[in-house]
Amino acid sequence: MSNQSTYDVAVIGAGVFGAWTAWHLAKRGKRIALIDAYGPAHSRASSGGETRIIRMGYGADELYTGWSKRSLAQWKEFFAVTRQALFLESGVLWMAGDEDLRLRQTIATLKRCGVTFEELDRATLEKRFAQIGFDGVKSGLYEPKSGVLMARRAVAAVVEDAVRHGTEYRCAQVLRPTGSGRVHEVATSDGEKIAAEQFIFACGPWLGKVFPDVLGTRIFPSRQEVFYFGIPAGDTRFAAPALPTWLFQEDLVYGMPDIEGRGLKIAFDEHGERVDPDTQSRIVSPTMTKMVREYAARRFPALKDAPIVETRVCLYENTSSGDFLIDRHPELENVWFAGGGSGHGFKHGPAVGEYITGRLLDGAPAEVRFSLQTKETTQNRAVF
Ligand SMILES: Cc1cc2nc3c(=O)[nH]c(=O)nc-3n(C[C@H](O)[C@H](O)[C@H](O)COP(=O)(O)OP(=O)(O)OC[C@H]3O[C@@H](n4cnc5c(N)ncnc54)[C@H](O)[C@@H]3O)c2cc1C
Repeated sequence: MSNQSTYDVAVIGAGVFGAWTAWHLAKRGKRIALIDAYGPAHSRASSGGETRIIRMGYGADELYTGWSKRSLAQWKEFFAVTRQALFLESGVLWMAGDEDLRLRQTIATLKRCGVTFEELDRATLEKRFAQIGFDGVKSGLYEPKSGVLMARRAVAAVVEDAVRHGTEYRCAQVLRPTGSGRVHEVATSDGEKIAAEQFIFACGPWLGKVFPDVLGTRIFPSRQEVFYFGIPAGDTRFAAPALPTWLFQEDLVYGMPDIEGRGLKIAFDEHGERVDPDTQSRIVSPTMTKMVREYAARRFPALKDAPIVETRVCLYENTSSGDFLIDRHPELENVWFAGGGSGHGFKHGPAVGEYITGRLLDGAPAEVRFSLQTKETTQNRAVF
């Protein structure tokens, strides 16, 4: 990357949001610099996990159902063109107990949006998924066409393809832009200057650290612990297609089948404590380990004594509502934020990149839910 060049757009952050943004802009023939402090979907990034769910169900929320649909089509097309098998159509099973309002809302939304799904009663659930313990579950909804993205590798693949289309990628930490009005260049921690017409900061949980004055209290990075349980030798009941990806909203818990032999994944979706992305511990806590062990035994009786074979600590980058933050900086006219994935953003990477590209190049209308002005300084989660 030469320091004399002026790029059309500098994208800072090569997680799923930044990678797809660079990709869409590069496909439109723009000169793009993509810069990440550690590398695409590295271990500390929100996009850095092995796997992420892509599902269409969002309760009554048609905006994200629509975006999931658009994004799944783009992911599949991208994998087909680049000849990579990084989407697993495991199916996604929603389970509901007494509080089934969200399930009913999801059914209505999926019908309106033309998404294929099946409604399952308790007897059918038990017959079809005998390896699941349905304690507290009354009914289910099954999305057969949804599933799992191989997250970290998918982001690396998008960056690689963006580079093939002319994006210049480099590993560097970009320093906070200063001043007001128009930004002409940003500096990196090793003293390089990167000049561009537009700057998009897709810095995930670091957004609040890069822009402490504007986002320090509006992005809530939370610590999320993920567990993988070892499957009994030779047992195929816990891999797809026998076991789908699943979610049980009332317990704020989700899991995935055994993929590539890593074990059955389980995690709680409740927001963990607020943390600093650079200094937080990446080792799971004894309290959460105990809770997840108990949950695994309740939901999967055959895994009662299964060993934990892997753990991860990852970060959500929550906004107050769970709506994304994709908007201009309030004072720096050519600086944009793209973040606030809030624990559900990964699947939407393609649509996020497309949206920003439309706003930058085509003057596409802004979605008010993504605006900075709708982001509060206290959390009141509305998107799940
Ligand atoms: C445990 C867990 C489970 C999840 N499950 C799902 C799921 O099943 N489905 C789903 O859709 N979503 C899920 N999510 C949410 C999803 O992963 C995130 O919303 C998404 O990955 C956010 O991507 P991002 O590009 O905004 O951030 P990141 O991936 O964090 O990328 C930001 C990048 O910016 C870089 N950066 C920051 N500051 C600088 C700087 N100053 N200079 C240069 N580079 C910088 C960082 O190094 C980083 O690579 C989950 C998240 C977690 C943590």
